[in-house]
Amino acid sequence: MGWFKKKKSDFADAYIPVCPACDKPLVTLEWDNIEIDYCVNCRGTWFDRGEVERIVRGEATEGDPIIPPVKQMRPGKRDKRLCPRCDRKLVEFVACQINGNELRLDACPQNHGIWFDGGELEAYLKAQFVGTAAMTRIASFLKEVFGIQDVEV
Ligand SMILES: [Zn+2]
Ligand SMILES: [Zn+2]
Repeated sequence: MGWFKKKKSDFADAYIPVCPACDKPLVTLEWDNIEIDYCVNCRGTWFDRGEVERIVRGEATEGDPIIPPVKQMRPGKRDKRLCPRCDRKLVEFVACQINGNELRLDACPQNHGIWFDGGELEAYLKAQFVGTAAMTRIASFLKEVFGIQDVEV
């Protein structure tokens, strides 16, 4: 298992998604046949719809979506953030509580995916999944893709 970087333009002419937070081109990281979009500038990460579930559960396992449907979300306060797939304004939702604080993430109102600012992905995955069966796989993902060592499982 490994990962490598390549541009979306390898697949579709002149289509390079840009970072919702800082407008720099996103690069693609691949892990276990899952492609996620990463900003090397601000270290944020974009997951297309269903990709968080595939990271957490792998290919074979089915279940409810981990990311809630858009009807539970509200308009984002950071109004300049746009979906890298459709350019619509991202909406904001409370993903979980961490030590009594809300972790708010951005998502596309057309359900294209979800954006994690730098550090939010690790915080979210740890808050949601430490102590669960999924955490061994998640720890491998964080280590192999982001070099995050010694994640508690
Ligand atoms: Zn960025
Ligand atoms: Zn979108």
